[in-house]
Amino acid sequence: DLAPLRRALLSVSDKTGLVDLARALADRGVELLSTGGSAKTLREAGLEVRDVAEVTGFPEMMDGRVKTLHPAVHGGLLALRDNDAHKDAMVEHHIGPIDLLVVNLYPFEETLARGAGYDEMVENIDIGGPAMIRAAAKNHAFVTTVVDVKDYLPLLAELDANDGQTTYAFRQTLAKIAYARTAAYDTAVSTWMAGAIGQDTPRRRSFAGTFKQVMRYGENSHQKAAFYTDGTGRPGVATAQQHQGKELSYNNINDTDAAFELVAEFDPADGPAVAIIKHANPCGVARGATLLEAYQNAFDCDRTSAFGGIVALNQPLDEATARAIVEIFTEVVIAPGASEAAKAVFATKKNLRLLTTDALPDVKAPITTYRQVAGGMLVQDKDTGFVGMDDLKVVTKKAPSDEQMADLLFAWKVAKHVKSNAIVYVKDKATVGVGAGQMSRLDSALIAAKKAERMAEAMGLPAPLTKGSAVASDAFFPFADGLMEAAAAGATCVIQPGGSMRDDEVIAAADEAGIAMVFTGMRHFRH
Ligand code: 5GP
Repeated sequence: DLAPLRRALLSVSDKTGLVDLARALADRGVELLSTGGSAKTLREAGLEVRDVAEVTGFPEMMDGRVKTLHPAVHGGLLALRDNDAHKDAMVEHHIGPIDLLVVNLYPFEETLARGAGYDEMVENIDIGGPAMIRAAAKNHAFVTTVVDVKDYLPLLAELDANDGQTTYAFRQTLAKIAYARTAAYDTAVSTWMAGAIGQDTPRRRSFAGTFKQVMRYGENSHQKAAFYTDGTGRPGVATAQQHQGKELSYNNINDTDAAFELVAEFDPADGPAVAIIKHANPCGVARGATLLEAYQNAFDCDRTSAFGGIVALNQPLDEATARAIVEIFTEVVIAPGASEAAKAVFATKKNLRLLTTDALPDVKAPITTYRQVAGGMLVQDKDTGFVGMDDLKVVTKKAPSDEQMADLLFAWKVAKHVKSNAIVYVKDKATVGVGAGQMSRLDSALIAAKKAERMAEAMGLPAPLTKGSAVASDAFFPFADGLMEAAAAGATCVIQPGGSMRDDEVIAAADEAGIAMVFTGMRHFRH
């Protein structure tokens, strides 16, 4: 199952490592073919290389749109070396075999990430590259296909271990990688195009990710896991840089994403905000005059659950906040940047992971989200639904004051990021009780209030923090009981979508309790 390697075609946009690879191949007696820019790089390094144009008998033309699309190339890649008719065809048409293909594609994803316009994006759709990759990978019985700079050294190691040849298993693995690359590439093109022409609905498209990294393990240690990016390059967890700490796990990425997406709801122009997440649900979200104060306010919501949590900031991490964070065990901190002094504080905590990005995620960006179900996947637009002051309808005799209104909108933003059924109590722009993921809305209201009571006891406060709070419910109250529980916990105003058959009963109960209530007309289920 060994295949010799006599002739290689090198055609790469990313020239990283190209010269070293080509020199190592030439040293092993491999003849080098190459396209314009790649050939130029190789010649400048003093290597002997044949132009593909000489092989095809056609110059590269139409701004490089047509370089390698020719039977002399594709025949050389696709011919079965042990088939007499194929061998005859090669002789008859003067086609030489190509045993190794090294291609990396026009940098479509990178060009997109730097915000190029429509025409430039179109020009960056590689045609000949994917065609060659797919041809070479199909013929993996004989041909070796390399599409990733990371595979240059393993290729040389393979040649050295096998007397200048490659094994079938090696070629199969590379073919698998090759098809993953062309699939992800075309997905990036299709996804970009959907957005560019304003059809960014999850219809008649394809979804394939690009492998980014192996995770420490999956949701549990007996599960393997990996992280894939969608090629959009937008700010967020997928583009974050890890500065220190242990390798990330599946849960870490999932929780960090939940934390960062939540805190990004709070515009840094309006001041600092901090979210602390456990198991993808917030156990504390707060604003503050300073980042440190925001962290402390978030922490005070549920000090017990914050242990081992994920902390997300809407501003670069500063030294004071870093000092407060390291006082308890924290898994991950993510922020749009970190000061050198803050990094120095974290350096003393070897396991704590610090992730930074250049910017906060754009919560309004039209993103597609996926979820696996048995035998398929569910695809939907991200929940970018936004409710502002003007969208609210006061339904009770009492109307909320300005301060209550601010807390209601704060609570609403948080509720959107809490697993349903979600009940969120807020006071002075800080959560004081979060009820998440219960099968009944009443239970979520009870649990949140109970936790607030426990926190008050732990902190030596006379009354639960929910006293005088604003409360948000991610979907309507089907009965008045949930609302009455919130009133019993001391809530004085409520925000909820409305739309229940029993809205009248719920409104009457609110009036009875002297509570102000507003309807959003929009719900935020999160399952
Ligand atoms: P070079 O820098 O060597 O001139 O060009 C290398 C790039 O051209 C690679 O990214 C390769 O995928 C791409 N390429 C090779 N052949 C063709 C072709 O026939 N058409 C197009 N559009 N791109 C090609």
